[in-house]
Amino acid sequence: MKRNSKPKADGLQQGRKAIDQLDKELVRLLAERMKAVQGIADAKRQNPDAPLRDDGRERELFEVWSREAVGHDLSGYFAGRVLREILNWSRREQERQLRPKSEETSTGAVRVGYQGVPACYSDLAITKLFSTRDHKGLARQGFRSFGAAIDALEAGEIDYALLPIENTIAGSINDVYDLLARRNVTIVGEEIIDVEHCLVALPGTKLEDVRVVRSHPVALQQCREFLDNLVGTVAESYHDTAGAARSIAVEKAVDVAAIASEESAAHYGLQVLARKVHDQRENMTRFLLIAREPEAFDKRWPSKSSLVISVNHRQGALLACLQAFATQGVNLTKLESRPLAETPWEYLFYLDIEGRIDDPGVAAALEELRVHTNRLKVLGSYPRCVSETEGVQVAAPQAPAKRNGKVKDGVSMPKIPAAPKKNGALRLAGSREDKSRTRVRIGGVEIGGSQFVVISGPCAIESREQVLESAAMVKACGARIMRGGAFKPRSSPYSFQGLGFEGLDMLREAGRAYEMPVVTEVLRIEDAGRIAEKADMLQVGARNMQNFALLRELGRLDRPILLKRGMSATIEEVLMAAEYIMDAGNNQVVLCERGIRTFETATRATLDVSAIPVLKSRSHLPVIVDPSHAAGVRDLVIPLALAATAAGADGLIVEAHPRPEEALCDKDQALTRGDLEELIHALRPIVAAQGRTL
Ligand code: PEP
Ligand code: MN
Repeated sequence: MKRNSKPKADGLQQGRKAIDQLDKELVRLLAERMKAVQGIADAKRQNPDAPLRDDGRERELFEVWSREAVGHDLSGYFAGRVLREILNWSRREQERQLRPKSEETSTGAVRVGYQGVPACYSDLAITKLFSTRDHKGLARQGFRSFGAAIDALEAGEIDYALLPIENTIAGSINDVYDLLARRNVTIVGEEIIDVEHCLVALPGTKLEDVRVVRSHPVALQQCREFLDNLVGTVAESYHDTAGAARSIAVEKAVDVAAIASEESAAHYGLQVLARKVHDQRENMTRFLLIAREPEAFDKRWPSKSSLVISVNHRQGALLACLQAFATQGVNLTKLESRPLAETPWEYLFYLDIEGRIDDPGVAAALEELRVHTNRLKVLGSYPRCVSETEGVQVAAPQAPAKRNGKVKDGVSMPKIPAAPKKNGALRLAGSREDKSRTRVRIGGVEIGGSQFVVISGPCAIESREQVLESAAMVKACGARIMRGGAFKPRSSPYSFQGLGFEGLDMLREAGRAYEMPVVTEVLRIEDAGRIAEKADMLQVGARNMQNFALLRELGRLDRPILLKRGMSATIEEVLMAAEYIMDAGNNQVVLCERGIRTFETATRATLDVSAIPVLKSRSHLPVIVDPSHAAGVRDLVIPLALAATAAGADGLIVEAHPRPEEALCDKDQALTRGDLEELIHALRPIVAAQGRTL
């Protein structure tokens, strides 16, 4: 390189010296300013009533900076940009100060999982997010997939997982949404990072040497214009951006470049050939911090809640949900739909709203939402990431809520407010103020509406022929839904235990052939998901009514649940079991009275007819009755069924078999074809008198 002449070099050096001095001073002032910010955070902590953000004050600052800047012949816009960044970090510092000290800080490093390899964008997001949290070091762990990170989180091997949820160019990351809907985890924070793609390669590689550009397909897509101009190169997809950078370092490939972050180039000893190679100017990715349990945070922070819902299959149900937010003045910031895997043409909706779930407006909107949804799961309430681009235009801080138990320092756990006194702990299953009733849809059949629904079929699925024959029989008699046990809970281990999944396939085939949705019992938690893929409704048997782990698991599925009353369960306990399912997110519960144990031995169980009106007055859920297991013998089934119908049941579930004498299970109580015809005939006037149809 040609050396500069001496006087020029002197001028350059002097100028640089002056700048270095000024920069030092700038940094010192920034540090001092940050100390002052800490003082403010302290003051805000002392006074939980003080608002965290003061938009007026921020606006004033911008005006002052702009005025000062112009006075110094500096661009007001430039000063504003700098101030925006300073305010951003001030807010982060306050957030860190106001965050309750987490337990991990006392026990050691926080273990954070992400998908990818070191120096990937997720890893960078971890660095940024945890800069606002107190901790004694970060122990990061990269996983091969999003699911593997969530597995480790659920197993307690890590404290958090940080996963990407959306990108401004590429859109939503659906796999992460689906994991959130299904797994037992909660969102506790979010972070947004600027994605600045660079073209990186081994030191010494020149742009014209590059023959292959390797990266994640989405990154390649985001840099298409740049790549189109690189004549003579081919794009090669790789499972992640930082991994592509690493592969070049490992292979020592001289004619390969990767699209990755500047940080990953530094991490793997590569050089940057070109910066900001993505097409759109703004390329940002939002990440979610996921934990096992919700975390407390200061109520004054701008916050956000995420939900997943599936709406009733009724006209206007989605509109009613959205209306609920509008009525309560809750700002809906995102709505995303995903197809439901098990039910073609039905959808799950993911929503982001502003505010915490214990904000009165949000809580009221959620109450309203429950009426219109089959499923409602709160994915988390967490401090909102006030992004760099948001400037001062963020919502005014909410006044600290004093309603539900004043909390020290204004820091509290976001949780759904306590139930109205009237319903005790039955927050979800208890009857509603407006007396509205839930209708549960199973395939095309609705229970709890104007139609009285008869479910029928054999106790157990015994063979393909038996189940097809049974289906033809019950359909001809007027049953709308078919029952049949594939997994049988038998009192004796030596009795027939059911045909399992093979039997379930037969039941499904029969249901399809005769156009009836099917219901079957789930015995084990680990089978629930697989059974839900084949059955239209899942039954919790009497023996499992208080298997709370099973109830929770069923609460996570998008399938209606038939909940049978335990043989020695009180009405309160049945409702509490329903509450478990609903609390896990599934609102589609049908209650079933099937007789209880009393001192009486003349019948298999004693049908508790009074439970029908009691359940219907204490809960909004539909109630059906199983006279078969209460009676235990064929002759009693019809009178009990008629009594239950007269008492207000929404439907019946009765066992029937083409040849009861051959039944492998509960043969004494199975109705014949003739019996079933007789029952339906006798039901007609009772059902009609109640203004319903059969
Ligand atoms: C059944 O419906 O097959 C059954 C076993 O019922 P319950 O759980 O009510 O005994
Ligand atoms: Mn049975």
